[in-house]
Amino acid sequence: MNNNLFESAKKVIPGGVNSPVRAFKSVGGTPVFIKRAEGSFIYDEHDRKYLDYCLSWGALILGHANAEVVEAIKVTADKGTNFGTATKREVQFANLIVDAILSIEKVRLVNSGTEAVMSAVRLARAYTGKNKILKFEGAYHGHSDCLLAKSGSGITDLSVPDTQGVPYDFTKHTLIAPFNNIAKVKQIVSYYKDDLAAVIVEPVMANCGVVLPEKGFLEFLRSIDNTVLIFDEVITGFRLCYGGAQDFFGIKPDLTCLGKIIGGAMPVGAFGGRADIMDMLAPEGNVYQAGTLSGNPIAVSAGMASLKILKKNDLYKKITKTADKLCSGIKKIAENTGIKLQINQIGSIFSIFYRE
Ligand SMILES: *Cc1c(COP(=O)(O)O)cnc(C)c1O
Repeated sequence: MNNNLFESAKKVIPGGVNSPVRAFKSVGGTPVFIKRAEGSFIYDEHDRKYLDYCLSWGALILGHANAEVVEAIKVTADKGTNFGTATKREVQFANLIVDAILSIEKVRLVNSGTEAVMSAVRLARAYTGKNKILKFEGAYHGHSDCLLAKSGSGITDLSVPDTQGVPYDFTKHTLIAPFNNIAKVKQIVSYYKDDLAAVIVEPVMANCGVVLPEKGFLEFLRSIDNTVLIFDEVITGFRLCYGGAQDFFGIKPDLTCLGKIIGGAMPVGAFGGRADIMDMLAPEGNVYQAGTLSGNPIAVSAGMASLKILKKNDLYKKITKTADKLCSGIKKIAENTGIKLQINQIGSIFSIFYRE
């Protein structure tokens, strides 16, 4: 049945999926079509049961169909699904975020992590009056044009588009450095400092497989002058600890991007930070950013219910312990069977690299 479904999906959806990674292309096999889920288990159209280690890329930190989150969604839906006006709930949610994330004084809600990053970059450029941004090799920050860039020829630090459909002109302001390479970042910063608007970094590289920041690296990024430091905490926010990676490492960025967990697996993203920067957004300032469904009541309710649970019950020790156990088990099996692998782990975030 999966195969039939996949065949019919491919007729009407490019590649049969609405996000490329779901097609299983890099690991083989055909996509699994999921019908329902509960806790840590998902069930496919054949009623086959799977243990879900992915949990919507971390968005479902509370597991599937958490009773309190589902209840919040239902209660809210009964009263209308979107108003296109301001709501009290958005103010309460913003307060939860501002209280949770140390560096966030003001926050704006969007619908995805992509939107959060795209808007934060625009804001940083407006604030500094500069054009260039520095990102790190391999880091994924969503699918907006200027961030789908990869290293160029190696002769310059300038990048090239990492997809068809993005003009070279759109990525020419995106610089790329290897993560953890202070010397290279220093070199780029000193060369481009007059035009460097922002440094954007996942404080723990998590989307591309886990790479931890070496001691002093984030501190060094924080010390760069006249440039906006953006933490992409779409994965690490509310994941490493309630206050995110910035609380975990004790480093305050200027702007922070959030997604995944913040919406309780409904479409929510957010970006926030220093009030003087955030106040440049329309209608207070002249940096345009908008969204028909931004602050959507149902999505915000799901996010709020999730954050309240995370705040009330300190789950982080527990999930770290679980991940420790899983990782040491995997390592033991690998040793016993002679499989060479490397596990990078921090808190509940880990990934396996099949090499020494
Ligand atoms: C998932 C992710 C994004 C993009 O978020 P979407 O909601 O998929 O648009 C951006 N940055 C990081 C680090 C992510 O993991």
